[in-house]
Amino acid sequence: MSRLNHKPPSALVIGAGFGGLAAAMRLGAKGYRVTVLDRLESPGGRATSVTRNGHRFDLGPTIVTVPDVFQKLWAATGRRFEDDVDLRPLDPFYEIRFQDGSAFTARKDPAAMREEVRRLAPDDLAGFDRLMRGAERRYQFGFENLGRRPMHELWELIKVLPTFAWYRADRSIYAHAARQVRDERLRMALSFHPLFIGGDPFKVTSMYALVSHLEAAFGVHYAMGGAGAIAEGMAKVVGDQGGEVLYGAQADEITVENDRATGVKLASGETLRSEIVVSNADVGHTYDHLLRKRRRKRWTGPRLKRARWSMGLFLWYFGTKGTRDLWPDVGHHTILNGPRYRGLVRDIFIKGRLAEDMSLYVHRPTVTDPSAAPAGGDTFYALSPVPHLGHADPVDWAERAEPYRQKVQEVLERDLLPGLSAHLSASHVMTPNDFESRYLSPHGSGFSIEPRILQSAWFRPHNVSEEVKGLFLVGAGTHPGAGLPGVVVSAEVMDQLVPDARPAMADATAADLVAAE
Ligand SMILES: Cc1cc2nc3c(=O)[nH]c(=O)nc-3n(C[C@H](O)[C@H](O)[C@H](O)COP(=O)(O)OP(=O)(O)OC[C@H]3O[C@@H](n4cnc5c(N)ncnc54)[C@H](O)[C@@H]3O)c2cc1C
Repeated sequence: MSRLNHKPPSALVIGAGFGGLAAAMRLGAKGYRVTVLDRLESPGGRATSVTRNGHRFDLGPTIVTVPDVFQKLWAATGRRFEDDVDLRPLDPFYEIRFQDGSAFTARKDPAAMREEVRRLAPDDLAGFDRLMRGAERRYQFGFENLGRRPMHELWELIKVLPTFAWYRADRSIYAHAARQVRDERLRMALSFHPLFIGGDPFKVTSMYALVSHLEAAFGVHYAMGGAGAIAEGMAKVVGDQGGEVLYGAQADEITVENDRATGVKLASGETLRSEIVVSNADVGHTYDHLLRKRRRKRWTGPRLKRARWSMGLFLWYFGTKGTRDLWPDVGHHTILNGPRYRGLVRDIFIKGRLAEDMSLYVHRPTVTDPSAAPAGGDTFYALSPVPHLGHADPVDWAERAEPYRQKVQEVLERDLLPGLSAHLSASHVMTPNDFESRYLSPHGSGFSIEPRILQSAWFRPHNVSEEVKGLFLVGAGTHPGAGLPGVVVSAEVMDQLVPDARPAMADATAADLVAAE
């Protein structure tokens, strides 16, 4: 069937994650007739939600750090982000609790942040100030400059190598923090951020210190209704632009003729044709499955197998009743540190084994958005980073999930939420197996390819495919990387690579698109 084969030129986007929806909005603004396909039943990918016993569980992202990327995206379509999404700034941002009973609360006010540092380790104040100044410079270079432009030409990488060397990008973010501050708790608080985009803080480049600046400069926000509400807003814009989002539609193959992507064959057998194809499916799935019939030059099966993948995630979503006034000291975001930092990270990323101990990130959205739970109740999730499924002896989650969940519950009851068991009213679990089956994520990884330096920028799968003309890639596994700002910016980069199709550009036919490459 060929229902898209007429002017204006058409674009098919595989995946309605944030990357795919952002790409669709930008393509719509460029004059393409856009169709987005997703195998799920609602928009947002990892940001979709499920409801259990009246509790809305937002399955994935909870923190919006750079509203600016969304404002720019909406502006590109001639709209205002604020008209579609109710974003609330949080203060404090989050609390980190340590095993010795101490805590570090990240806040918006720089003076309050310095006071937190002074309280924990007064001798580290000067080092903290140095680190924050460096974070701002790294943000300007790493996010605004390098992150927001195409990196598919080797020359683009060569040009920035001296700056990389100047910033000692070869150093890990932990090593970078350790050079500035001596207190181990502070070292953790200033280096854990890559874990939120799937990176090992002892291996990931110190460029990621930019996140400390990004939080300080833009704040930490929550979208009322959950991150899924942003995705709903994006899907609405796509619809208003004349595009469509097809749910329950799984792509099985990107069709190629004369080395050029010509459309998508669905698992149902139907074939849709288009002038360009954008894949927001995981890069591993895109190359290994959707292009399985192609002989690939760069992203071959063995190359993808050798890649280092981000860790998996164990998530326990739970609801409680009658708890709105219980646990008043537990805020919207809490990080509950286990006894080990380096050793635990090593078990997860390098050894690939499920440790006895755990560190948890605990989300309690009802602090900001009571609509996530029935009246008087709370909605939570506890996230524990665990090995992905690609290690030599993968965890058998069919067997281990329930005992592990019980252990998470014990830790929470002991260290954060006393009396929890008596208040439970809903429960839902996700393991790396679910990431594999729900999002088609290779090895069930939480965030696609790990953001190590040799898997970043030019080394990362490009936003314009190296394998097939007319194919573009967006999302966590592509440049610049995972996280909501990262994947929305990946569509910004794609936008710079796709030819304009507005009538003013005249005769934007398939032939012109071919010529434009
Ligand atoms: C638990 C968790 C917490 C997180 N917390 C934060 C946070 O607080 N802040 C932050 O910024 N980031 C956070 N992240 C990271 C962020 O959510 C992701 O990096 C981002 O949402 C990924 O977006 P994406 O567009 O790349 O892919 P996805 O969200 O994975 O979307 C890809 C879509 O493609 C669809 N798809 C795949 N293959 C096919 C196919 N063959 N046919 C049709 N459809 C297909 C999938 O169904 C999916 O809907 C978190 C992630 C997780 C998992």
